[in-house]
Amino acid sequence: ANEVRSQAITEVLNRTAVETVETRPLSEIWAIDVFNLAKMEEALSKNAFKAMKKTVQTGEPLDSATADIVAAAMKDWAMGKGAKFFSHVFYPLTNITAEKHDGFIVTNPEGNAITEFTGSLLIKGEPDGSSFPNGSLRMTNAARGYTSWDPTSPAYIMWTANGATLMIPSVFMSWTGESLDKKIPLLRSISAMDASARRVLTLMGETDIAPFNASCGAEQEYFLVDQHFAVARPDLLLAGRTLFGAAPAKSQEFDDHYFGAIPERVQVFMQAFEEKLYRLGIPAKTHHNEVAPGQFEIAPYYEAANVAADHQQLLMTVMKATAAEHGFLCLLHEKPFAGINGSGKHVNWSVANSTQGNLLDPGTSPEHNLNFLLFCGAVIRGVHKFGPLLRAVIATASNDHRLGANEAPPAILSVYLGDQLEGVFNDIKAGKISVSSDGGVMDLGLSQILNFQRDPGDRNRTSPFAFTGNRFEFRAVGSSQSVSGPLTALNTILADSLQWVADQLEVQLEAGKTRPEAVAIVIKELMELHSDAVFGGDGYSSEWHEAAVKERGLRNLPTSAEALPVFTEPDIIALFEKTGVLSALELNARYEVYAEQYINSIAVEAKLVIDMAKTIIYPAALKYAADLANTYAVANEVGVSFDTTQVKVIAENANLLLSTVASLSSELERHDFADTKAHMLHSATSIRGLMDTARSHADALEVEVDDAVWPLPKYREMLFIK
Ligand code: ADP
Ligand code: MG
Repeated sequence: ANEVRSQAITEVLNRTAVETVETRPLSEIWAIDVFNLAKMEEALSKNAFKAMKKTVQTGEPLDSATADIVAAAMKDWAMGKGAKFFSHVFYPLTNITAEKHDGFIVTNPEGNAITEFTGSLLIKGEPDGSSFPNGSLRMTNAARGYTSWDPTSPAYIMWTANGATLMIPSVFMSWTGESLDKKIPLLRSISAMDASARRVLTLMGETDIAPFNASCGAEQEYFLVDQHFAVARPDLLLAGRTLFGAAPAKSQEFDDHYFGAIPERVQVFMQAFEEKLYRLGIPAKTHHNEVAPGQFEIAPYYEAANVAADHQQLLMTVMKATAAEHGFLCLLHEKPFAGINGSGKHVNWSVANSTQGNLLDPGTSPEHNLNFLLFCGAVIRGVHKFGPLLRAVIATASNDHRLGANEAPPAILSVYLGDQLEGVFNDIKAGKISVSSDGGVMDLGLSQILNFQRDPGDRNRTSPFAFTGNRFEFRAVGSSQSVSGPLTALNTILADSLQWVADQLEVQLEAGKTRPEAVAIVIKELMELHSDAVFGGDGYSSEWHEAAVKERGLRNLPTSAEALPVFTEPDIIALFEKTGVLSALELNARYEVYAEQYINSIAVEAKLVIDMAKTIIYPAALKYAADLANTYAVANEVGVSFDTTQVKVIAENANLLLSTVASLSSELERHDFADTKAHMLHSATSIRGLMDTARSHADALEVEVDDAVWPLPKYREMLFIK
């Protein structure tokens, strides 16, 4: 290996696991850094606590008197831990987490420093929003936005080597009230779903109905690469993925990494990372190796969707920071290494409240089964009507590398129910399960059928959206994404479908049908309209790609360039407006921002390809070609000759590499597009196509050029040396 690489290898091999110092038991560190209800109860008066608790549980706004009291208590708690600063944490339309730091300090006229933190500082912080992507909202409103604490998500402490900062999970909106973030629509979608669920359950005769929320448990996949290798790879540092790199002789064909023993250094990192999560009240539960070498997964226990979404963002932040402390670069990109499994984020989603429980759990009682059928049916309808929306909310430049590839769900949205449940829905559709009007068959015969075994073996890994016993698992979500978009879409389509279900139920009940009869009729009709979305076969197969489109009329949107414009379609605008989750203006702003991000992230990668090709790869190839040519010349002088094929292969690929990146440069200069979609399609086809061509020549060079001069850490090094 060349000097940089061999030095990196030596450094990596000399590493030892970082020692962790935390020795306290879990019970002592759990949520130690969170100002949660338990800590508020200790710190607040009875009345203030009661008001606060009501806000947390119902999402009702906090009155200003209580806000002042809570702010004071929060400040005391944080300063007790040494905090001098606080920060509103918010979630702009990128997938990142944004922070606006402030000091508690103010000076008085006497020149003394005092600390101040009022309710209005807690509720309204004012970041200069002008540099966050706002889409068209930038034009119609003052660019500035403000942040405001979301009291349903507790404040917490973040530690640096220098001390503590109080972090306040916030919403981010324009002065005219438009959402500029991912949190507000999620909160609105929960309310919309709550209202619809309540309506259906009321029709089903339930009287005591607690507020609904979605539950979310997100399984997060990621790669770890030693920082010594990463610093020698500009593509990993700037784009989070390798833009070049020949396939190693061995990759994942033996499946020997999956659930194998976790390397010591990685295990130490995982434990340190999870200890930090515990301090933040994030219920980390499982961690293990994933399929690809160097790939791992962490899954916390599920929580209420709004809390889970904040925790998921925090988890990604803490994971990257902790990985760095342990000498790793943590890659959340969906496809860091070509030809090797990519990373997803499986979003497990269900709908529950404290009185009826989880409505996506078939349960054992007949009444529960009826409610389950309605909710599950509503999900089927939602996926069928709004499959393209589910595709659009997972559309990013990076996830495009994964969707439709061999190991990841296809870009066609269908729903997998499992044989047994699919059978039940099909039987209802076929009229095989009917109800006698005396109500004697109260349970539709379903209690037996639905009391099925939840065999985890009965899993279809090829489905983008699968029922897994008591929840749905949205597997097509990308590993670097915020879960808020997918959760918002799921809640919203469910809210809409439950309204449809309620409308149909009402008609049947008014016509004098019993509830079981009405349910059977509604589900039968629902399946007649929407069963095309149900698919239990192999989602990776080419047969499915053809049948889904031709026979079932489902849409295949392979790239984000095709998927993102779904946000501008009339039925999607109507869906979001009707449910009150996003106005047409807010929705369009999202389209613009996501499209711009898509175009920009491909452009950044393309520029890196050009830069690395010209300044790193081509020079290395040239140097080795010169060596070879010299050798041939000297050999000739002494009357021996070598086969010169190799130098010709190198010359050919080096020349093609240069000409390809020259074309890439000129394609990047183009700006004459009819609209945003045309621009995105250009990025998806021309730019990406040329990047792939450049890569094929560079990778061909990598396997010809002497290992001693190749400048970029190779796949085998990055993936296998820990
Ligand atoms: P897998 O077999 O997919 O690895 P796990 O048992 O590890 O399944 O669960 C994956 C995730 O699903 C976890 O975060 C878990 O807490 C979550 N989960 C379990 N039940 C539910 C539910 N009812 N609603 C939402 N998420 C759930
Ligand atoms: Mg799973």
